[in-house]
Amino acid sequence: KIKTRFAPSPTGYLHVGGARTALYSWLYARHAQGTFVLRIEDTDLERSTPEAIDAIMQGMNWLDLSWDEGPYYQTKRFDRYNQVIDQMLVKGTAYRCYCSKERLEKLREEQMANGEKARYDGHCRCDEVQKSRSANEPHVVRFANPIDGVVVFDDLIRGPIEIANKELDDLIIRRTDGSPTYNFCVVVDDWDMEITHVIRGEDHINNTPRQINILKALDAPLPQYGHVSMILGDDGQKLSKRHGAVGVMQYRDDGYLPEALLNYLVRLGWSHGDQEIFSRPEMIEFFTLDAVSRSASAFNTEKLLWLNHHYINHLDADYVAQHLLWHMNKQGYDLSNGPDLITIVKLYGERSKTLKEMAESCAYCYQDFAQFDADAAKKHLRLVAKEPLEFVKQKLSAIADFDWQIDIIHQAIQGAADELGVGMGKVGMPLRVAVTGIGQSPSVDATIHAVGKKRALARIEKALD
Ligand code: GLU
Repeated sequence: KIKTRFAPSPTGYLHVGGARTALYSWLYARHAQGTFVLRIEDTDLERSTPEAIDAIMQGMNWLDLSWDEGPYYQTKRFDRYNQVIDQMLVKGTAYRCYCSKERLEKLREEQMANGEKARYDGHCRCDEVQKSRSANEPHVVRFANPIDGVVVFDDLIRGPIEIANKELDDLIIRRTDGSPTYNFCVVVDDWDMEITHVIRGEDHINNTPRQINILKALDAPLPQYGHVSMILGDDGQKLSKRHGAVGVMQYRDDGYLPEALLNYLVRLGWSHGDQEIFSRPEMIEFFTLDAVSRSASAFNTEKLLWLNHHYINHLDADYVAQHLLWHMNKQGYDLSNGPDLITIVKLYGERSKTLKEMAESCAYCYQDFAQFDADAAKKHLRLVAKEPLEFVKQKLSAIADFDWQIDIIHQAIQGAADELGVGMGKVGMPLRVAVTGIGQSPSVDATIHAVGKKRALARIEKALD
């Protein structure tokens, strides 16, 4: 049975790179009806924070990437790691290293001076040292990496990879203070949690041969590995804060729907023919690792906006409204003082690329504005506009409250224009500016319908003043 995991280190928020790795792992498991595990790699006590753990889970929840097992915490598994290390010491696949900092430093300098790669020389990896020193003396534990031969693995994304063992160090697996090291914890976890497919960022590719060697020494089954390429900014540089939002929740704040971000991320380095729009069930159905790209992908905000606009207009208005609510509250609107949110989604969807934009542009449906936009007023509320405005006011006030419907409002505007012998625009534009304060809005009849009769008439009054 297929089992994948997402194993973030909780040192910050869930960034888009991590979210994409999580998505690919999640999709791989869902596609195979396997299990998806969340594991928090919090062994770096100085850099891990509870806030980051919350932020990561919040991001996963917002994207609705649900895990079947976990979260597991590495800090709760130290006994287990130490147990495995002790077994390795007995078996001889690990050894105590008593080398002083000074000796290691000197070794390193010599190696560098000779143009060699700095690596441990195996000084303590012999019976002589092991017998002559006591386990009570300060020491680290090192993995006895095979000296000869090669490590080969077939990366699910990048193809066969081969590394000579002599390139690999005798990795420290337990520090002097007794704490197990990161690479070792990952190995024991993947083994204990019976992970079959390790899908992770390319930045871990150098760890893989070391981890494979340790797994072999433990007689553990080997998972398959797939390393996902990096995400770059649109300028080709490594994605960072400079490029705008990088934390997943920042995309929520900026007005994106989770569907848009997921769709964007799945296509960022994966393809299925030339299809661009993928529903969640489609992603699950079509996702395979062999269609994941080996090259880095550049982040493209324009495309993300395009997808967001698509989803704002194609998902259930009711569902979009649930996400809009957060932004409306952020704006501080009194929602009882205006149209329901489904109306807003339907009315403003076509002209909104983000929910934030939508929430901002419908302000006049909930709140009075302090002044008319100067340009719009100059253009459309001049003296010559007073007559059509006065005229349409009469028509609109004649509509009974229970008749305040878009088509009836439309007829009133049309009627005013006809009687005045002018085009609809000559009435519609002053009316729009009077009621919304600005020169752009959805269709004027639907907009003033949303604003409401009493408020619309009061604003026209004010414009006529
Ligand atoms: N904890 C690692 C990270 O956040 C991932 C390790 C792994 O997937 O093996 O980059």
